[in-house]
Amino acid sequence: MECPRDGRELIVEHTHGIEVDRCPQCNGRWLDYDELNQLEATTGATEAERRATIEFGEKPSELDCPVCGKRMKAFNYRAYDLELDTCPEEHGYWLDSGEEGRVRDIINDRVRGLERSASAEAAWGGFLRGIKGGRGRGGGGGFFGRR
Ligand SMILES: [Zn+2]
Ligand SMILES: [Zn+2]
Repeated sequence: MECPRDGRELIVEHTHGIEVDRCPQCNGRWLDYDELNQLEATTGATEAERRATIEFGEKPSELDCPVCGKRMKAFNYRAYDLELDTCPEEHGYWLDSGEEGRVRDIINDRVRGLERSASAEAAWGGFLRGIKGGRGRGGGGGFFGRR
C-alpha cells in the first residue's frame, strides 16, 4: 500500500494488537476501518451511536484512498478540531503526522469529562504509546517532537 500524500510504500507496524501502516517519508498513518471502530467500541457506545457521531463537517479531501484509489472525504473527528480523511468505501482512515497527538489530547479531555471513557483512554493510550515507541525506526522521526 502506498502513502496517499507522497506515494512511498507504507510500513506495517503492530501495536497492541492493532495493525497500522506507517509512511517512512511523511510519518502519516493509515488505520483500517475496523481498527478505529475497535477503539471506538471501547467507549461503550453502541455501533449506531458511534456511526452517527464520529463524522462531522464532512468535505472533499485532497487525498485518494490507498486501498481503492477513490477520492477520500475529510471530516472533523467527533466535532473536535482534528481533521481525518476517510474512504467513502469504508476502507480506513488517514492520519497525518502530528494528528495522533491531537487524538491523545482529545482522549485526555474526554477522560476528565466522562468516567466511562476510562477504557477508551486505556485503548487509545496503549495505541498511541505503541506508535510513539515506533519513532526512530525507518527514519521518519517522531511526530510528538514535531509540534
Ligand atoms: Zn507519506
Ligand atoms: Zn477505499
